[in-house]
Amino acid sequence: MMPLDEITITKIILEKFSEKFIAKALDVDVAIAGGGPAGLVAGKYLAEKGIKTCLFERKLSVGGQANFR
Ligand SMILES: Cc1cc2nc3c(=O)[nH]c(=O)nc-3n(C[C@H](O)[C@H](O)[C@H](O)COP(=O)(O)OP(=O)(O)OC[C@H]3O[C@@H](n4cnc5c(N)ncnc54)[C@H](O)[C@@H]3O)c2cc1C
Repeated sequence: MMPLDEITITKIILEKFSEKFIAKALDVDVAIAGGGPAGLVAGKYLAEKGIKTCLFERKLSVGGQANFR
């Protein structure tokens, strides 16, 4: 039997969460890579047309190069 330590439990929770999330994220008509201005505007127009769209951003916040501080 597998030992149930904190790391194992955390891994199981993350695996279950990502399985659900990925299945939902893939049930789309359009996938957009990048949440810069181009991706955000494309997503806006697609969503307005009722097209199921998922936007993937590799960073923690959207905005791309326009997100400078
Ligand atoms: C300092 C600065 C000042 C600027 N000032 C102006 C201005 O005054 N006026 C103007 O018109 N323009 C300005 N620009 C340019 C403007 O910011 C860019 O033209 C614009 O951001 C380009 O948008 P984009 O969506 O094509 O790409 P980006 O803004 O580069 O966005 C791309 C996004 O895709 C993400 N990404 C990349 N690869 C992946 C991947 N594999 N998976 C998921 N996500 C990914 C990136 O993290 C990023 O968020 C400025 C740029 C800079 C750096």
